[in-house]
Amino acid sequence: YCKVNNKTNYCYFNEDVQREFVDNISLLNDVKGAITKHEFTLNYQLIEDTKKGKFHSAESLIRWNHPERGNVPPMNFIPVVENTSLILDITDYVIDEALRQKSVWNNMGLKIPKISINISAKSFRSADLVSIINNKLKEYDIDSNELILELTETGFVEDLDDIKRNIIELKRLGVEIAIDDFGTGYSSLARLKDLQIDYLKLDRTFIMSIDTDDSSRKVVISVIQLAKALGLKIIAEGIETKEQYDLLLELGCENAQGFYIHRPASAMEIEKLGKVVS
Ligand code: C2E
Ligand code: MG
Ligand code: MG
Ligand code: MG
Repeated sequence: YCKVNNKTNYCYFNEDVQREFVDNISLLNDVKGAITKHEFTLNYQLIEDTKKGKFHSAESLIRWNHPERGNVPPMNFIPVVENTSLILDITDYVIDEALRQKSVWNNMGLKIPKISINISAKSFRSADLVSIINNKLKEYDIDSNELILELTETGFVEDLDDIKRNIIELKRLGVEIAIDDFGTGYSSLARLKDLQIDYLKLDRTFIMSIDTDDSSRKVVISVIQLAKALGLKIIAEGIETKEQYDLLLELGCENAQGFYIHRPASAMEIEKLGKVVS
């Protein structure tokens, strides 16, 4: 059936699409069982408050240890799962596990003021999100101002009404909101200010070339200035070198994240830093 007009390219294309489709179905099947089989865990990446020279927060990042595939990076399954209701189960797991871990750290006296959780747009629109968050904060005895929810800027386009409603209720609870991967979408800063967004996470693509590319640096400078004028705080993502770090400090960036500061690490590794962070 592939030999139509001898267009073998189309044939390969179709097979690729079909294989991807089948792969995705088997991936989704595996995700279904992964939660109950405890194949998901969370890593944490420490974010520095550059003014205080202390840690500002830890971002929770999901890890999947698949019995046959090994470690599957989130970029290889989150985008597939995001189109299905399975993402709601993953979000439930991540909220529970991150807040449980935060309560353990609070009891240990670790000085990591806040924890952040990535919430995909579908979950951010969910009518249950606010009550789930509220219940988990109570269950683990965590103050709402210890929690930051991250929503990617590109998720900030469809069904905005539901997202806005949840943001308003979360802000009322005292939870902070961050716009992740900022600069990759098309949101207006004035709109974000209206919504009382707390943080803009400057996307890694700008930081990568900040010390080598003039236009990247100009974008970062103007975003930082405009954010400051509007009272939004900045977190720079993906800082890998001292040069990038020093330049961002000079530009007045309040919070720094990236391999140069700290790599994502297991909860146990973070706890071993106890003396550093407490
Ligand atoms: P993100 O939220 O923008 O997370 C930052 C990503 O950049 C992480 O990749 C982190 O390991 C990586 N990173 C941090 N510093 C550096 C650096 O200096 N250099 C480089 N090259 N990379 C750096 P990771 O853990 O693979 O996660 C990728 C994305 O998957 C996340 O991007 C987020 O969008 C999504 N994700 C991760 N965990 C979750 C989760 O629990 N729920 C949801 N919905 N999405 C998640
Ligand atoms: Mg994030
Ligand atoms: Mg990010
Ligand atoms: Mg990013």
